[in-house]
Amino acid sequence: MKQEAKRIQSIPPYLFARIEKKIDELKEKGIDVISFGIGDPDLPTPDYIIDKMAEAIKDPANHQYPSSVGMISFRRAVADWYKKRFDVDLDPATEVVSLIGSKEGIANINYCYVDPGDINLVPDPGYPVYGIGTMLAGGESYYMPLKEENGYLPDFTAIPEDIAAKAKLMFLNYPNNPTGATATREFFEEAVAFAKKYDIIICHDAAYSEVAYDGYVPVSFLEIDGAKDVGIEFNSVSKPFNMTGWRIGFAVGNAKVIETLGRYKSNVDSGAFQAVQIAAMEGLANGDETIEKMHQIYAKRRDLVVDAFNSLGWNLPKPKATFYIWAPVPKGFTSESFAEYVLEKAAVIVTPGNGYGAAGEGYFRISLTLPEERVAEAAERLRDHLDQVTF
Ligand SMILES: *Cc1c(COP(=O)(O)O)cnc(C)c1O
Repeated sequence: MKQEAKRIQSIPPYLFARIEKKIDELKEKGIDVISFGIGDPDLPTPDYIIDKMAEAIKDPANHQYPSSVGMISFRRAVADWYKKRFDVDLDPATEVVSLIGSKEGIANINYCYVDPGDINLVPDPGYPVYGIGTMLAGGESYYMPLKEENGYLPDFTAIPEDIAAKAKLMFLNYPNNPTGATATREFFEEAVAFAKKYDIIICHDAAYSEVAYDGYVPVSFLEIDGAKDVGIEFNSVSKPFNMTGWRIGFAVGNAKVIETLGRYKSNVDSGAFQAVQIAAMEGLANGDETIEKMHQIYAKRRDLVVDAFNSLGWNLPKPKATFYIWAPVPKGFTSESFAEYVLEKAAVIVTPGNGYGAAGEGYFRISLTLPEERVAEAAERLRDHLDQVTF
């Protein structure tokens, strides 16, 4: 058999594939493992969205190739939602493109702008697709460390002048996976000014814009004056409506970048199943109550976990958004050794922070995407089986 292409050989094993394997091994031994590992909502897609899909799937008009940039009615629904939710004006015809999940767009934007040797600015720790998408297109990532003392926001002044001048894309993601950090309007203003100065395209990943607590309302990058001149925002219905399996998302913002991404997509995929677009429209138009209920469910789970760790000596703040808790490992542990320790002592899976980049070393991530009774059981196991630590 011929060798795989170098770009494929360079892909590290997908973090969760390793964790899945470990879970399977323990399950085979009859151990009841509780996994805080993967960030995939456990709750079902709401019935009114499923009903809409059931209706749409029976219409033969939806059985043919869709438009690769999305039905105009879908793009209008996205624009209407941006107006209602963020007070951002978008032209559905030129400033919105459908995606087969936002992950698809995040990977493919690299093929639109990155030539071999080009540089992208990538957050570390971060969603792995930013760096791997960059690499697949032949580019190199300049990693922007997200430090606790900076509220897990990148420090633009720490980026060397020659790197900034050369950079093509900058990936940002707030509310943030894996740190749970949020960004202020002032931070996005700084990002827009930086992008203008160095002619960088900002790709803001807003996958968690609807997952927030305690009255906190996340900001869209596009709310900032001038944002549309320098970038786009990715979002999807995956996290707000428990629709990760449906594969439908969108990118919005700068018309030139949206057109380029659409042109690329028209050559490699043929868009998202129309029935799925119609179902997603239902969520965007009528989903406020679902989102409100989801907030209450995740907030309860969050409190159970944060309280358990804090009773053991941690001093974790309660994240204002995302369904993640990002926490430091105790003294004497690495990310990996602490994950192993928790698994051995309590049969609980946490994700080692170094899986999200070198700057994630010394941290672990907990995902709150499992039922409350399982979260409560895990919290109890942590209290019972983990030793008190002091930092
Ligand atoms: C879940 C997630 C996404 C994307 O999900 P899709 O289902 O592809 O829309 C994008 N970015 C981050 C940071 C995520 O955690």
